[in-house]
Amino acid sequence: MENTGNQSIEYLLEVIRALGVDTSDIFGVNASDGRVTAYKISDDTRDFALTDELYYEDFINKYIQENVIFEEKVAVERMCDLSHVINELSDKDTFHIHFKSIRNDEKHYHILKFVKVNISGESDSFLMAFASMDKSETKKKTAENDELTGVLTRQAFMRYAMATMKAHPETPYDIIIIDIDRFKLVNVMYGDRMGDNVLAFTAAAFSDFCSSDGVIGRLGADRFVCLIPHRDNLEEDGIVKLIDDIQKNAPVNITVKAGYYDNVDERIPLSTMCERALLAVRSIKDHAMLKVAPYNGPVSHKHMRKQSFEANFENAIREKSFKIWYQPKYDAKTRKIVGAEALVRWISPTGTLTSPGEFIPIFEEDGLIVRLDEYVFRTVCENLKYWYDRGAKVLPISVNISRASLHYEGTVLRYKKILEEFGLPIELVPLEITESASIKDDRIKKLAKELKEAGFVIHMDDFGTGFSSLSSINMLPIDVVKIDKSLIDYIGDEGGEELLKHSISLAHFKKYKVIAEGVETEEQYKFLKSIDCDMIQGYYFAKPMSYEDLVELFRKLLAENRI
Ligand code: C2E
Ligand code: CA
Ligand code: CA
Repeated sequence: MENTGNQSIEYLLEVIRALGVDTSDIFGVNASDGRVTAYKISDDTRDFALTDELYYEDFINKYIQENVIFEEKVAVERMCDLSHVINELSDKDTFHIHFKSIRNDEKHYHILKFVKVNISGESDSFLMAFASMDKSETKKKTAENDELTGVLTRQAFMRYAMATMKAHPETPYDIIIIDIDRFKLVNVMYGDRMGDNVLAFTAAAFSDFCSSDGVIGRLGADRFVCLIPHRDNLEEDGIVKLIDDIQKNAPVNITVKAGYYDNVDERIPLSTMCERALLAVRSIKDHAMLKVAPYNGPVSHKHMRKQSFEANFENAIREKSFKIWYQPKYDAKTRKIVGAEALVRWISPTGTLTSPGEFIPIFEEDGLIVRLDEYVFRTVCENLKYWYDRGAKVLPISVNISRASLHYEGTVLRYKKILEEFGLPIELVPLEITESASIKDDRIKKLAKELKEAGFVIHMDDFGTGFSSLSSINMLPIDVVKIDKSLIDYIGDEGGEELLKHSISLAHFKKYKVIAEGVETEEQYKFLKSIDCDMIQGYYFAKPMSYEDLVELFRKLLAENRI
């Protein structure tokens, strides 16, 4: 249709007037070869042909891409398919498609009319007329957009993001969530108005980042989400800069964290995709140094347990769900009780018992162990005090203290204060420090020295598990060496027995007492006694027991004059 004769123009004009649209966007399509010609309709009614050879598919797809609001793109694409149009026009003269576009934050309504015409004698041809229906409304007014920030509401985000992914099944997508740290503080410190400003600013920066091919929504008070076609180096090239940009330019000082789930698995629900990105943000909530985190595969059981332990820690302290169990220590020669070790357990409200091997490593990682250790220390002091004040015979109860607690500022002073508060002699609560925590660490040595100088009795726990056990005996200021179960298990093996003998002589040479832990059999006990081990702790004599059971055991032994 390079050129249409005047007659045809007259004819087209008539049709166009009949369409009742006021537009210059009128195109003729030659359906047989798929070529498109544009008609400019103005007062002097001149036609022109598109200079570039343009084919219907390219033309219409570009038009839809640039104009149609994304949630309608798929449907509009389908209805504009050339064979579909021809089919529609086979038994009627016109058909319409309604669609919306967004320009300058405003939603516009359009109608696309297809009219069967015979342009310059070609039978397979039709006109397309794009008309604006002038029923615009501002984007901000619609319920789909968050009033304050203008981005989509949570529900609208879900709808649009889903439609976008469906419309482009071949495109890989990334989901990013950003979260303002302690946003409530902004409101408290600067007022709600400033809080609003900060949110609007953050949303705008995030929108820029997502650009036009992304869908962005507000997930919660101070949390935004976006879906974008996958970008390589998303973290280094994108999110990190975005966060720096927000933090640098925000109206007040804020900290922003981001989590992302890239190349989403589109077979899972969108809500799960978002949860994964959320999980990623949460994983760095308390890490001052980290700004961005990716989602790393499905949540492992271990990770969930970790999160649940951490989340329940405060409650457990408050509700006294951490219980202290006591494992008696016996004099190897007399078989009399000489003390006990405090071992913590976590008893849930439903009564399930979790052993320290499960939660201590987690609390060691995140630092909560410092509070737990102190809690155990205090509880032990409380229990001892009860008997001490009544003039009962009181034996020392040792408490485990982790490396993190040792490092923690002021631990020595605080523990001393607790003892003073209860009025207990310091030697009633020895501290067990693990060998592996001590040997390579000069600070631990220093702290151990501090503890010693403050008057604490120090037991070196887990002896035999470290690299240079024998030399650690030499280097630390200690009172008791506690031989680990793994060495006790060597009993019966010649080399192992030799090592045990030498360790005990060395300890005795340094004037330390020796206790063997994890003693389970008569054979082990007898051998240990034969090589002058001073004390025995292990299932052979007694397992760890509740406080009530310990008191009961004491009563019994006292009555039998065996303490
Ligand atoms: P640990 O300090 O070496 O405590 C000895 C562990 O060996 C205890 O396990 C005890 O129940 C177990 N045990 C004692 N005798 C035997 C025996 O004859 N056979 C066997 N197989 N095991 C025996 P538990 O109570 O599960 O504690 C595990 C670890 O958790 C402790 O090892 C200690 O490192 C840590 N832990 C426990 N309570 C605390 C605490 O309050 N603070 C800190 N920082 N760590 C604690
Ligand atoms: Ca111990
Ligand atoms: Ca031990």
